[in-house]
Amino acid sequence: MDKYSLLKKYFGHSEFKPGQEYLIDAILEGRDAMGIMPTGGGKSLCYQIPSLMLSGLSLIVSPLIALMKDQVAALKEAGAQTAFINSSLSYDEIRIVYDEIFMKKVKIVYIAPERLEDADFCLLMSRMEISLVAVDEAHCISQWGQDFRPSYLKISEFIASLPRRPVVAAFTATATERVRGDIKRLLGLQNPLIEITGFDRPNLFFDVLRPKNKEATLKALVSQRRNKSGIIYCATRNGVEKIWNTLIKMNIPATRYHAGLTNEERQTNQDDFQFDRKTVMVATNAFGMGIDKSNVGYVIHYNMPKSLEAYYQEAGRAGRDSAEADCILLYSPGDVVTAKYLIENRDEKNQLTPTQRAEIKRKDYERLEIMNRYCKTTSCLRGYILNYFSQPHEGKCSNCGNCKGEFEKLDISLYSQMILSCIVRTGKKLGYNVGRALIISTLRGSGAGRIRELGLDKLSTYGLMNKTDEQTLRGIIDHLEEEGYIRTNPAHSTLEITEKASLILFKGEKVMMSFRRDKPLEMVKAKKEGKKSEGKRKTAETPEITEEAAEIFEALKATRTKLAKNAGLPAYIIFSNATLNDMAEKMPRNIEEFLEVSGVGEVKAARYGKDFLETLAAFAEGEN
Ligand code: ADP
Ligand code: MG
Repeated sequence: MDKYSLLKKYFGHSEFKPGQEYLIDAILEGRDAMGIMPTGGGKSLCYQIPSLMLSGLSLIVSPLIALMKDQVAALKEAGAQTAFINSSLSYDEIRIVYDEIFMKKVKIVYIAPERLEDADFCLLMSRMEISLVAVDEAHCISQWGQDFRPSYLKISEFIASLPRRPVVAAFTATATERVRGDIKRLLGLQNPLIEITGFDRPNLFFDVLRPKNKEATLKALVSQRRNKSGIIYCATRNGVEKIWNTLIKMNIPATRYHAGLTNEERQTNQDDFQFDRKTVMVATNAFGMGIDKSNVGYVIHYNMPKSLEAYYQEAGRAGRDSAEADCILLYSPGDVVTAKYLIENRDEKNQLTPTQRAEIKRKDYERLEIMNRYCKTTSCLRGYILNYFSQPHEGKCSNCGNCKGEFEKLDISLYSQMILSCIVRTGKKLGYNVGRALIISTLRGSGAGRIRELGLDKLSTYGLMNKTDEQTLRGIIDHLEEEGYIRTNPAHSTLEITEKASLILFKGEKVMMSFRRDKPLEMVKAKKEGKKSEGKRKTAETPEITEEAAEIFEALKATRTKLAKNAGLPAYIIFSNATLNDMAEKMPRNIEEFLEVSGVGEVKAARYGKDFLETLAAFAEGEN
C-alpha cells in the first residue's frame, strides 16, 4: 500500500502536514533523517508510515512510558501490528512480546532506551531484519537539552552491533543548533535529510493578560471554558495547590501534578486528565513531557515561565488536534521576581564547574528577558515567537490578543520629556551616562543607596514619575528607543539621547504610543480620568456556534464517551474533537460519507461508524 492510502486507511487523514512527506520519502529511500517539528507537528506519522511500508521490523525509541502505551493503543486501534516493551511490563509479558517479534507478528516495536542494554533483547534483534530505528524526543541525547537521558547515548552502539545498519531517523521539537548538532553526532546519522518545519501553530490563539486580580481572572477564564479540557501551569508547588483548591471549590473537575506528590498520585492524576475523568490539570512545569493528549482546549499560564522556549512548548500542548485552542499568559511584574529567584536557586543535577554555572545563569537571564519582552510587547505575539525561533513572520497574524485587541494611541510627550531630560541631567552631573535601571530608579524616586551615593536624588528629575510603575516606564523607554530618540551604547549598555531627541525636548514634537485597552496603564489612566474606557474585549471568546451545532457536538461526544468506556481507551483515541467537529459539519449519512470526515480511517469507520451515524441520524430526521 502506498503512503497516501496508509495515511487515509490507518490514520484517517487526507493530506500530509508540512514536512511529513519529505521525511517519509527519505526514510523509504533508505536515507537517514532528522525531523524538527513543533509539538503537535505530527512527528509520529513520519516514522509510523515508513514502519508499515518497510519490509523488516521498526524500532521506535521513546523515553515516555505513558505516551508509548497510548501510541501503541492508537496504532492497534487503527489496525497495525504494534507492541511496546518497557519497565511497566512483567518478565512474562516481555517474553510474550519477544516471541511475537521473533514470529514476525509485530511490525513496530516501541522501546524505552534502557532496553538496548538488555542482552536478550540485543540477541533477538541481531536475528531480526531491522529496517528502521526511529528515535523520538531525540533531544534527550544531548546534555544541552532539558531532558538528558544517559541511556540515549547507547543507541549508536546498539546500531553498530547490528548485522546490517538500518535507516536511522531522529525526531525532536527542540530547534537550537547545539542540540541539533549533538543529535546528529551522537546518533551517528549519515548524511541525514534534515527537515525543519514551520513552528507556527495557526490554530492556537495567543494572549497575555495583565490582570489586577489574577485569581479572579483565572476563575472567569476557566468558567467560560467549562466543557473544555485545559492545563493551568503555575511556577511553584504552592501555587498549584492554591489554584487547585480554588477550582475544586468552584466544582471544576480539576486534578494536580507537581514534584511534591508521590509517584502513584502523579500517575493517577495524569491518567485522570488523560482519560478525561478530570477536565482541568493544574501543574508545575514537571507536567507535560509524558502526555500526548490531543484535545486540550486551552493552556493558561498563571505565572510567566522562565523562557520563551519553555512557554511555547507548554502552551503548545493545547490544540494538538488542530481544533481552535487558547494559550493565555497571566502576567504580573512579580513573576519576574519569582523567575529570578528560581534562576538563582536552581538545583544543579550534574556537577558543573563554576564557569559553566555562571554561563548557564547568564543564558537563563537572557532567556528570561526575552520572555519578559513577550509579555510586554504590543505587536503580534505569534510574530514575536516565530521570529525568536528564526522563522520570519510578517507580524500580523490576526489570531493573537495583540492583533485582535483594541488599542488606543495615547500622547506620551510629557513623559518622554521627563525621561529624556533625566538622561541628560544624569549624564551632566556624573560626567558619564548610566544604564536603564538607574534612570528608572531616579525617575521613580527610589530610595536606593546607590542613588544617594551618586547624588541623583538631588536632580530635579528625581521622583518626577513616582506614580508610574516600573514596567510601564520601561515600556516607554523601549518605545523611545524604537522610535530613535534614545539609543543604548553597545559597549557599556548605557542610555544616551540621539539628535532626534531635541525635537521632543525643544521643538514640542508629539510622541504617541499604543496601549491595549484591556491592559490599562496606571499612569495613562490617571491622565485620561473622566473618560471611561469600556475595556471590552473581543478576543479569547469561543467562536460562536449555533445551538443546534452545539447539541450535535455534545451528542457525538456522548457517543464517543460510551465507546471509549467500552473499549477502555481514552476518548481522544477513538476520535479527536477536531474529527467530531468535522463530523458535525459534514453530517455524513452513510459509511462512504463517514469516511470523508477528517480523522476517520477505514478501520475506525468499520468499528465505530455505525454508532456515530445513528447519533447523527437523530438530528438529520428533523431536516426536510
Ligand atoms: P508530535 O509528536 O510532533 O508532537 P503527533 O505525532 O503526536 O505530534 O501528532 C499530533 C496530532 O496531529 C495528532 O493528533 C495527529 O493525529 C495529528 N496529525 C498527524 N498527522 C496529521 C495529518 N497529516 N493530518 C491531520 N492530522 C495529523
Ligand atoms: Mg511526539
